Amino acid sequence: MWQSQVTLLAEIDRQKDELLGIIAHQLFTPITAVKWSTENLLSGDTGKLTKSQQNEVESIQNVTAQLADLVAMILDVSRIQLGRIPLNNVPLDLNVMMKEILEIITIKAKEKNVKLVTHMPNTLPTVLLDKRYTHMTIENLLSNAVKYTPAGGAVTLTMTTANDILRCSVKDTGCGIPKADQEKIFGKLFRASNVRNTVDGNGFGLYVAKGAIEAEGGKIWFESEENKGSTFFVELPLNYQQTDQKK
Ligand code: ADP
Repeated sequence: MWQSQVTLLAEIDRQKDELLGIIAHQLFTPITAVKWSTENLLSGDTGKLTKSQQNEVESIQNVTAQLADLVAMILDVSRIQLGRIPLNNVPLDLNVMMKEILEIITIKAKEKNVKLVTHMPNTLPTVLLDKRYTHMTIENLLSNAVKYTPAGGAVTLTMTTANDILRCSVKDTGCGIPKADQEKIFGKLFRASNVRNTVDGNGFGLYVAKGAIEAEGGKIWFESEENKGSTFFVELPLNYQQTDQKK
């Protein structure tokens, strides 16, 4: 292909990512309006709802939250493609973050009859990291581990913070990733052949996780064997500047 054609295609691709970001951004306004309206209806300020009306409004609320998550993911994909991931590194208490994540994951693991084991220090530090992306990445690895592990299996989370590096591994005894798919697993919208038609998902999570972790100066990788299980690893540099929480 001629160099000028390559440049043109790259420019078209960039414009597509830009447009995707603008559309996602615009979608937030109506989604937020629906969210507020459902909250108003449920608060009773606009009159008492019957039980079945309340159920209907609650299901609109759940779907709206899912829609908001999806739009946020699309915005993230566009930002990563354009190399403009907006990190907001503020003091982040990792104890609070892990408590929030484990509350959600414990419920998911119980529902699925998957054993959840955690190996973590008693106290984690407060460090400068982007809360949203760090939270999203760790939660995504754990919820994937539960999602792709059949009932009776186990998920093990190990976390350490030695030498100013947060090391986190999430090991599962699930379906694993076929060898042929492994090098594409962090690709945009990619889903492995062994789960594509059987387990729900959209293939956004790991793509956004890799973009965000690398933007933070960290690394993310995995080891996996089909039908045996997978282990995902994350390393993040811990910056204590402006926090006095080093332990
Ligand atoms: P999703 O889970 O929504 O499909 P992700 O981006 O989180 O999207 O993951 C991309 C793909 O990586 C998944 O579709 C699946 O094929 C594979 N994958 C991720 N985590 C695991 C895991 N713990 N075990 C097996 N496969 C996994």
